[in-house]
Amino acid sequence: MQLLKDRIRKDGIVKPGNILKVDSFLNHQMDIPFINELGKEFKRRFSDCPITKILTIEASGIGIAALTAQYFHTPMIFAKKAQSLNLDGDMYTAKVESFTHKKVYDVILSKKFLTARDHVLIIDDFLANGCALEGLIAIVRAAGASLAGAGVVIEKGFQGGGDRIRRMGVRLESLAIIDSMTEDSLTFRE
Ligand code: 5GP
Repeated sequence: MQLLKDRIRKDGIVKPGNILKVDSFLNHQMDIPFINELGKEFKRRFSDCPITKILTIEASGIGIAALTAQYFHTPMIFAKKAQSLNLDGDMYTAKVESFTHKKVYDVILSKKFLTARDHVLIIDDFLANGCALEGLIAIVRAAGASLAGAGVVIEKGFQGGGDRIRRMGVRLESLAIIDSMTEDSLTFRE
């Protein structure tokens, strides 16, 4: 998506550890009209799917998923990061290793909000090693829901998560795929 690539080139900052900071427009300060365009693009790409729920993970996926859900006219649900697991059977759970914080945590989603009747589109801001998406996919499968696919804003193609998710047979749509990045150069996949 050209609008996104241009914005990453203009405002993205590459940090040590293969981290791209886009916090002036995507995940700290949020440019709402711009993110709205991302939501519209996800709708265009998944317009053939009968989506009933948009699923993301807290925190930075929430705003993007919320603006996307408007275009699908569906609720948005987000998996929460749990401090301690209360395994009373009412929650789907998955383990996710955080790319940015390097620790493993549990994410939970109430069984009330996802059932076998749902058709789910997963939305997230970044795809690096793929752990966050894999956790969300595990939750969709545990619910017996249908997975229409996953939409991510920025895939760091050189970190391999996207390849793994595609090999799982999941339809993955990334609005921008970065093939390489250093402090002074950034290459997108065409
Ligand atoms: P993964 O689970 O695919 O390794 O990492 C995905 C999660 O890590 C995303 O939800 C995002 O919050 C965070 N993340 C991964 N890479 C980056 C990055 O380069 N920049 C930022 N801001 N977040 C990232």
